[in-house]
Amino acid sequence: MFGISWKIILLKYKLAKKMNFLWGNNRRINTASNYLKQKFGMRIQKVAIDAGFTCPNRDGTLGTGGCAYCNNDAFNPNYCSPDKEIYRQIEEGIQFHEKRYKSAGKYFAYFQAFSNTYASLEHLQKVYDQALKHPEIIGIIIGTRPDCIDEKKLEYFARLSEKYYVVVEYGIESVYDETLRYINRGHDFEKSREILELSFKYGVKTGAHFIFGLPGESRVTMTDSVKVISNLPLHTVKFHQLQIIKGTRFAQEYLEYPERFELFNLDEYIEFIADFLSKLNPEFIVERLAGETQPRNNLGLSWGLRYDQVLSKVEMHMEKNNLWQGKYFNVHIETPT
Ligand code: SF4
Repeated sequence: MFGISWKIILLKYKLAKKMNFLWGNNRRINTASNYLKQKFGMRIQKVAIDAGFTCPNRDGTLGTGGCAYCNNDAFNPNYCSPDKEIYRQIEEGIQFHEKRYKSAGKYFAYFQAFSNTYASLEHLQKVYDQALKHPEIIGIIIGTRPDCIDEKKLEYFARLSEKYYVVVEYGIESVYDETLRYINRGHDFEKSREILELSFKYGVKTGAHFIFGLPGESRVTMTDSVKVISNLPLHTVKFHQLQIIKGTRFAQEYLEYPERFELFNLDEYIEFIADFLSKLNPEFIVERLAGETQPRNNLGLSWGLRYDQVLSKVEMHMEKNNLWQGKYFNVHIETPT
């Protein structure tokens, strides 16, 4: 009798190991690394570029203080500098990655700092054409704000998308207008929805960035936002826990009024994000599910782990609790292919 039950357990274990989710492998999250490996047949790495853009929330058009949590210097790698030609930043970025990580097959140029569509179309063409000339670059990721893009720019990105992998990544941060006002974003959630729908209409792949733990949002309201997020026309998503970065408005506020901040500790975040992912649209490709900042730049809670260690802890938690991305999501929606 024991022999049979052990055989059943073993069979179940083997089945679970072999089980493929909607995204074609047995990882519990639809991760960008797996998606890109399947799509391109090799490992793709991002090289960050600072092309010298600014942002309307800093140059005085909307404001000068910026968003309450923002300090671009905290995440810009050393090789990134607007003083260097884009081609040179790519070369140095590739060398940097080759020394530190497993070698990648090809690269994406990642325009992350500030708002990378905040310039004339002619200027954007010059910048992005330069990056795409590099033989190792097969795509571009463009970080920007929802209010810094228009139909002409989307038309241009749609044309580039015919030949390259192109994602326009919008900072949305929260679906709640009250939070957006508090963090001084300078646009509301409707603006984000509108531009995502317009990008989708033009056939441009979109990404979105959200922050969890912003003041005024409870764990319940954050979890509830999954219903809204899951129904946006998104290709990729990025989630970060709120970190208090030195040199930001939040850093000052945190020192004066720490009670306003309910920062996640590691265990709380693992539980929260695993639950959130289990309700998230399984077609969304997850680029990141937590942020990573150098401890020297972080005034708040530092978890002391690298991103891949956090990811693996979340996956272990999901396995233990038999969760996977989209387990509790059941509304079909269209996303760009
Ligand atoms: S987060 Fe983006 S939009 Fe906000 S101030 Fe920083 S660069 Fe500007």
